[in-house]
Amino acid sequence: MSHVVIVGGSVAGMKLAQNLHSEGFGGAITLVDAEPNPLYDKPPLSKDYLSGASSGDRIQLTSPEALADAGVTTKFGTRATALDPASTSVSLSDGTTLTYDKLVIATGARARRTPWADLPGVHVLRSRADADALRADLVAGRHLAVIGAGFIGAEVAATAVKAGLRVSIIEPLEAPMGRAMNAQIGKIFADKHSREGVGFRFGVSVERVDRLHEQCHLLLTDGSTLSVDAVLLGIGAIPNTEWLAGSGVSVDNGVICDATLSAVGVPGVYAIGDVARFTNDRHPDSVRLEHWTSAADQAQLVAHNIVHPEDLRAYDPTEYVWSDQYDWKIQIVGRTGSEHSRLVGEPAAGRFGVVYGVDGEAVDGAVIVNWPRALIDARRSVASRARTQDLVARLQAAIQSTSPATR
Ligand SMILES: Cc1cc2nc3c(=O)[nH]c(=O)nc-3n(C[C@H](O)[C@H](O)[C@H](O)COP(=O)(O)OP(=O)(O)OC[C@H]3O[C@@H](n4cnc5c(N)ncnc54)[C@H](O)[C@@H]3O)c2cc1C
Repeated sequence: MSHVVIVGGSVAGMKLAQNLHSEGFGGAITLVDAEPNPLYDKPPLSKDYLSGASSGDRIQLTSPEALADAGVTTKFGTRATALDPASTSVSLSDGTTLTYDKLVIATGARARRTPWADLPGVHVLRSRADADALRADLVAGRHLAVIGAGFIGAEVAATAVKAGLRVSIIEPLEAPMGRAMNAQIGKIFADKHSREGVGFRFGVSVERVDRLHEQCHLLLTDGSTLSVDAVLLGIGAIPNTEWLAGSGVSVDNGVICDATLSAVGVPGVYAIGDVARFTNDRHPDSVRLEHWTSAADQAQLVAHNIVHPEDLRAYDPTEYVWSDQYDWKIQIVGRTGSEHSRLVGEPAAGRFGVVYGVDGEAVDGAVIVNWPRALIDARRSVASRARTQDLVARLQAAIQSTSPATR
C-alpha cells in the first residue's frame, strides 16, 4: 500500500492530509509534528487569541480523532531529524524511521531570534506557547517595545494598545510594513498607529537589550536608550530545513520546488506552506510565501498531484493575505511593494485602496482596507492580468459615485 509521510502538522500539513482523504487517496497517511499539539491556527495568535477574545478551542484546526477518522496516523511530539532518499526513509527523534512512497515537507518556519532573545520579558511570536507567554506580559499600564514593524509587529502593537499598554515600535525602515507596501504607503499605516497612541522610532535598530530590575533596557543604534517592561521581536521567520541537510533536497532559504511543488533534487518529495520556495510563470525568480491561504492552496494542489500523477497541476495562485489592525481589515492581493502605487480613497475615512502597477501594463496587486467590493474587483483584475489604469479608474468611480454605506 502506498504511504504518504507528511512532516509538519500545522495548517499546510493538516490540510494536505485532509485533502488526500477527500481526493480518494487509498494508501496510508502519517502526519508527524515536533509539537505535542500542533493542530491550531496561527493568525489569531497576534490578534484575538493574544487579546484573550478567542479561546484555545476557537483556534483549534481539527482534532487527532477527526484525523484518525479520515485514515490519518498522527505522530505528534516527534521531530523529523533526517531524510535518506536512498532508502526513502525519514528518521524521527524517537529513534524510529518511517519509509515513504511520497514525502511532503510542511515544516514551516520559526521566528528569527537575536543573541539577547532568551532574556525574561523578551518574546517572539510563532507558537501558541509564545502567545501565552506574551499575553502574560500584556498588562494594562505596562510599556511594550515592538522591534520590527512587519505584519506581526504591527498586529501585536494594535492588540497591546487596545489592552491598555503603552507601545513603542522600533523599525529600521521609514514606515511600518514598508517592504510589503512601499514606504510612502506604509506612512498611511504609521499615521493610523500614531492616532491610536503607538510611538515610533524609525530609521534605528536595537544594538543590545539588558534585563535589570524587572525591566528591559534597549540600546538603539543611534545611541539612545529605552526602558520597557517587555519586548516583542518581530524580525521575520526562518524556514525549518536543517533536518534536510545532506539529503540532496535543494535548499536556499526554503525548499526549492518546481511549479508543481515537487522538491528539486530528490524524486517523490514535495514541499508546501511557509517552507516552500517555488518558481512559476508569474515568479520566475522563485518566491516563498508566508501566507495562510497559500499554505492551504498548496496543500490542495499537492494532494491533487499525488493522487492524479497523470494530471499534474502547476501552482499559480492570486496571492492573498490579510491583517487586522484596530478597526482596519487590511487585505492584500497579488504583488505589492513596488514604488508604482496609486492611492484611491481617503485613509482618514477608514476605507481606501492602493493599486500597484504601471499604466499600460497588467496590475501587479492591491492593498484594500475595509472595502469588500474593491477587494473582489482587485482579485479579479490581478487574476485576469487586467490593465493597471482600468482598475484604478473603476475604484475611483466607485468611491466617487457611491455613498460610504453602500460601497
Ligand atoms: C502570529 C502570526 C500571525 C499570522 N497572521 C497571519 C494573517 O493574518 N494572515 C495570513 O495570511 N497569515 C498569517 N500568518 C502566517 C500563517 O500563519 C502561516 O503562513 C502558516 O501558519 C503557514 O503554515 P505552515 O503549515 O506552512 O507552517 P507552520 O505554521 O510554521 O507549521 C509548521 C509545523 O511544522 C512543525 N515542524 C517544524 N520542523 C519540524 C520537524 N523537523 N519535524 C516535525 N515537525 C516539524 C512545527 O512544529 C509546526 O507545527 C501568521 C503567522 C503568525 C505566526
